[in-house]
Amino acid sequence: MAEVNGHASQSASTERIQIVDDEKTFTSELTGQIERWGLRDSGFNYNIVAVFGSQSTGKSTLLNRLFGTTFDVMDETRRQQTTKGIWMCRGRDMGVMVMDVEGTDGRERGEDQDFERKSALFSLASSEVLIVNMWEHQVGLYQGANMSLLKTVFEVNLGLFGKKQMDGGRTLLLFVIRDHIGQTPLANLQATLVADLNRIWDTLSKPDDLKDRKLSDYFDLAFTALPHKILVPEKFELAVLSLRKRFTDKSNPDYLFKSAYHKRIPADGVAFYMQNIWEQVQSNKDLDLPTQQELLAQFRCDEISAGALAEFNEQAKSQKRPVESGRVVEGLGELMKNWRTRALTRYDRDASRYHKGVYTRKRADLVSVIDSTLSPLFLGQLKNLHKLAVVAFKQDLLNGLKGDNYDFAEVVTKATKKCEETFSTGAKEALVEGTDWNWEDELEVIKEEIRGVADQCRKDETKKMINQIERNVKKIISEPVEIQLSKPSSEMWDSVLTTFKETLAKAEATYLAKAKSFNCTEQENVTSLAALRKRSWIVLRNKIEEQTADQVLLGKLRAHFEEQFRYDDQGVPRVWKPEDDIDGAFKKAKEETLELVPLYSRIKPLDSSLEFVLEDDASDDLANEEFEFSSSLVVLSETKCLDLINKFRRDADAYYVEAKRSTVSSIAQ
Ligand code: GDP
Ligand code: MG
Repeated sequence: MAEVNGHASQSASTERIQIVDDEKTFTSELTGQIERWGLRDSGFNYNIVAVFGSQSTGKSTLLNRLFGTTFDVMDETRRQQTTKGIWMCRGRDMGVMVMDVEGTDGRERGEDQDFERKSALFSLASSEVLIVNMWEHQVGLYQGANMSLLKTVFEVNLGLFGKKQMDGGRTLLLFVIRDHIGQTPLANLQATLVADLNRIWDTLSKPDDLKDRKLSDYFDLAFTALPHKILVPEKFELAVLSLRKRFTDKSNPDYLFKSAYHKRIPADGVAFYMQNIWEQVQSNKDLDLPTQQELLAQFRCDEISAGALAEFNEQAKSQKRPVESGRVVEGLGELMKNWRTRALTRYDRDASRYHKGVYTRKRADLVSVIDSTLSPLFLGQLKNLHKLAVVAFKQDLLNGLKGDNYDFAEVVTKATKKCEETFSTGAKEALVEGTDWNWEDELEVIKEEIRGVADQCRKDETKKMINQIERNVKKIISEPVEIQLSKPSSEMWDSVLTTFKETLAKAEATYLAKAKSFNCTEQENVTSLAALRKRSWIVLRNKIEEQTADQVLLGKLRAHFEEQFRYDDQGVPRVWKPEDDIDGAFKKAKEETLELVPLYSRIKPLDSSLEFVLEDDASDDLANEEFEFSSSLVVLSETKCLDLINKFRRDADAYYVEAKRSTVSSIAQ
């Protein structure tokens, strides 16, 4: 007896159902009934038995005795026929589905042989044991109703199981001989029956490819006899009881439900399978069980898959919105793995009992549906992780670059490492084994992106640094150049340029020292240095501009002239006497001063090695003002020079007049 953990109530477990009615219609209630019997989830852990035999040979009576079922028994007093069709009951306290076939005796009454054939097909397709019930006196009646019935059974069986090898291809025929008086021993009856069966088998018209098959290739035979129920009721009951044990006790050496007979239809598929078989039988279509089992498998695996998927979808839906809204869902990978495993476990539990090929194929379908639902969540999570990691990276750069005491390269390296780790850790968590998902591509995109951010940041930092150095240059050269330009001499530009070049060299060294930590490229260094040179030059040039502005320069000329004209060689102010050569002194001082104008007008050292050259094409995105180096060497244009000369002459003339007057007044005293 199969053990069943059904918790169906006693009344439900004894319920009876007519699975095929007298109109030959299959019931739609069987699934529900099997569930109510508590057998739905028993997998292969159940048995099916059916009975065959002439009318009113005590079949239903026997089944009820053996299995505790509640099939209708003909009422002796009224000799009333029971309802036609196929009935099913669950054996009391046993995981057994028992089928009772109520037909008319077609051969005897000349009517419904069709139903007999169909019910034979149906019973064989699902039963492990077929009880063939007959009176003792029917044994040996080769031409009798029983033998004709068996011929039908054999023929039908060939059609069902003949062609392909399959599980459950064997069936046990249990001959129960009723009202056995005992005069003829069972062994003799059995020998007669076996001989008859073989004869029937030999006369069967078999298809060519099955010509050599023997009866024993398909059937096991067992025989038992029961004493007369009316004449020796106690013996009858005892014999029934011991037969019952052969159905219930697995340890019994004559146990009848051998696993080889099981048709391997999972209990939850029995109803669908039987209905399909019946419909196939009804429409007289060819019926081969391997195909039926495959159809069943397809149907059930689809159903089981749909059930698993429904639950899975519900779970997956819960995280769809959070992920889509940009959130990084904590432990998403763990969740996804759980949903996926749960769905597959559920599917495997129920579907793996069905046809292997179908089960495997449908499983692959299920996996691909599951994964195509999870994949957007995974990708969404990656996207969100990506965003999060890059934002953190930018923040880390900002924080790291605060103050003056940072090593740029170190800050970037640290932030990069952290960013990549944040992402990788999250991505690995979100990964579900068994998929072909990958996060490494996304990591490459991130690397590219933060490299860009770091580059931009370095450029900004470099800019800041160059600005700083430029301000420094300005500060450093300002005073010396101012002094040098106020002491005009032939070597004036030599000293200005020396100051400039020394300062620039220091600035360049400062840049290079800092640029090391910026991981600047060679090209960037070239560009930055060019910019620094150009901007330093402009700084110098602006200083010169300031020092040679009209009034400033006129002041310098005047000062120089005064030095010459109004002071003597010892630097003592002159007091002009009439005998002094005012004209000569004036002329000399004026000419010497006028010579300064060309000196100021162009930046030109005596020592040509001090000349400064700036490539005009030095590209500089840091100070891209319109600028041409060669013209920057010109301080005063020719017109400007003439203008200055004129202005200065007027000033000088005034001095001359004043000197002249002073002698006149001193004479007058
Ligand atoms: P079924 O049509 O084959 O299902 O037969 P039933 O179980 O309905 O029984 C038909 C009649 O035979 C009933 O009146 C029973 O009481 C009677 N019957 C049942 N078992 C036996 C038996 O072993 N021997 C005899 N002689 N009569 C029986
Ligand atoms: Mg009956």
